[in-house]
Formats: sequence, C-alpha cells, structure tokens
Amino acid sequence: MRPSQAIIDLDALRANYRLAASLAPQSQTMAVVKANAYGHGAVAVARALEPLVPAFAVACSEEALDLRSAGIAKPILLLEGFFSQDEIALAAANNFWLLVENEHQVEALAKTALPTPLTAWLKIDTGMHRLGAPLSQGIRLYEQLRACGHIRQPIVIASHFACADELDNDCTARQIQRLKQFAHSISSTTTPPLSMANSPALLGWPESHGAWNRPGFMLYGSSPFADAHPAADQLQAVMSFQSQVISVRTVPCGETVGYGNTWRATRDSIIATVPVGYGDGYPRHAPSGTPVLVAGQMAMLAGRVSMDLITLDVTNLSGIAIGSPVELWGKNLPVNSVAAAAGTIGYELLTRMPGRLRRIYRAE
Ligand SMILES: *Cc1c(COP(=O)(O)O)cnc(C)c1O
Repeated sequence: MRPSQAIIDLDALRANYRLAASLAPQSQTMAVVKANAYGHGAVAVARALEPLVPAFAVACSEEALDLRSAGIAKPILLLEGFFSQDEIALAAANNFWLLVENEHQVEALAKTALPTPLTAWLKIDTGMHRLGAPLSQGIRLYEQLRACGHIRQPIVIASHFACADELDNDCTARQIQRLKQFAHSISSTTTPPLSMANSPALLGWPESHGAWNRPGFMLYGSSPFADAHPAADQLQAVMSFQSQVISVRTVPCGETVGYGNTWRATRDSIIATVPVGYGDGYPRHAPSGTPVLVAGQMAMLAGRVSMDLITLDVTNLSGIAIGSPVELWGKNLPVNSVAAAAGTIGYELLTRMPGRLRRIYRAE
C-alpha cells in the first residue's frame, strides 16, 4: 500500500488533555473537537477523551450528531449555536449546549416549547467583533434567557479572544476585564459562571480561567505560541504525518525539478521522491527549502508540491534509498515549522488533512 499515513497517538492526546486540565484546576475543561478534531478524526479522538472530559465542543449540530451516532454521550457545546429553529428541539433531545449571541436566537429559544430542559450559554463580544452580543445588549438577552422556564440555570457567560497568543498584547487583559465587569453588572453578589479560555489563554492568561475552559489546538500537541513557552513546550505532537522515499535519482547541475521548473540544481544533486502531495494535506504553498525529515536527517523540499508527490534535495544526507522513512511533520518536526515555511499556521495544516490520507490510531 501507499506508505503515506497519519499516525495518531491517542496516549499523547490524553497526556495533552491532562496537562491542559492541570493548568486550570478550578475550571472544567472541555475538549474542542470541531473540524474533525482539527483533522485527527473526531470520533476516534472523542472516544479516547470521553472518560477524561466533562464535555466536548464542536462548531455545529452536524458535527455533534456524528459524535452521537458513534455513541459519544457527554454534553456537546455548539460553538456557533444554531442556525434554524428546528435545531433547538434537536439540541434539547441530544444534550447539545447552545452558545447564543443575538436576539433572534434568544427569541426563538423563548418561544420553543420543549419537553426537556436545554443548556444555553450567552456569548458576549468583548473585542473580537465577530460573534457575541454587544455589551450594551448583553444584559437584556441574559434576562430574557433567564426568564425561559426550560433553560437550565445558571447560564454561562462566554467570550472569545482575538490575540491570546500574543502574550505582550494587553488586548486580552482588556477583554477579560470587560467580561468580568459585565458579569458583575448582572449581579454583584452571585457572579454567573464564565467561559473564555481557548488554548493560548489557558496556557498564558490564568486570569481568563473560568468555570469552563475551551482548549482545542493544544490538545493535538502543538504550541499556540510563536515563541518558546514552558508549559506549551511540554505538549506532545499527536499526529505524525509519515511516508517513505519511493525513488532516488541524480539530477545534473543546471537541470530543473518538478512543475514549472522552479528549482534548478546548482550542483549535481540527489533528489528523493515521496508519494505525498497537496491531495494528502501537504501544503502546496510550501516553497523549496521547506524542512522534511528523511531517515532522521533534515532535507529540503526541491521544486513545487504536486497533488500526489513531492521531491526533496537529499544531496547532503547519507544513506538515503528507496524505503527511507519520511516525516512531513510530527514528533521530530513540529507542524508549526512547516506551517511557518508555507506562510500559514499549524491549525490550518492539521485541520485541512483530507479524508484520502489514512489515519492509524495508536495507544498503549
Ligand atoms: C475553536 C474555538 C476554541 C478553541 O480554540 P483553540 O485556539 O484551538 O484552543 C475555543 N472557543 C471558540 C469559540 C472556538 O471557536
């Protein structure tokens, strides 16, 4: 079989979750498994984490239903709430928690009769300006939700950060302050439960830890920060994107490699070909020079990424032959490094891994 595959280390996943939870011992830590668990396979990831986590989060009810069909029983927060009224009864019946942010959603919730109570969280816009009720409307929406007999109390107040990965940017402190002030304005005696922290905030902004934290990316083992960070650097990569060399050739000085002849040998060069390309989730925009590990040695991409193949300059490496193991990213080559070379972020590379690539799950 084609040797390209993603090995998914479920023990590393669980260790990362335990690290996340241990950093915020006063909080409940849900596991965000949206977008097919950031490309790792939502069902397998949720099954591995279910004994550890109090709840999951996904983007929408389609993703949540896939988990229910697979037998996942824990509550599932829908980060984008609901889009049509018929999803409200579906949510109540399936214990999906709804994150709501506007008056249409709150009114729809108020007028839907339900046989079972429903959990709804209110999202407040503290500065991201993408989703969330403006601070000025938040209290009215909160009171409306509170008046619904079929909504569980207390209602969690949530917000999302724009710059939590920038530890020297005071925008996050301002967002935290705004949400805390908002919660205080609701009731100065019993502040409602809060939920703010994504991965970078869980790691880097302890003041943001609330009743519920919502880490995603860090569970998959990469740092959300550009720079070294003591806790983030303990995370273990969950996905190892692997393949093998299937062809080796000598390319004389002056000859070119690949589509568009974009790479030219400046000396007699040894080129190794690997059966992985943008059809397998390797980024087409990765330029010549992007690092790839071959038999534990650092090689460089040479020429354009094709749909099914890449070519590597292995001239300086020793012992490279057909069958030599290749790591595109994983435990020895951080996905963030490949992402940086390709002008994107690790989040995108993991999340866009296509179904074509075989995923192999490993655990002790
Ligand atoms: C995706 C998402 C998260 C998780 O963010 P990470 O940076 O992956 O930890 C948390 N909250 C919301 C609202 C999200 O959309």
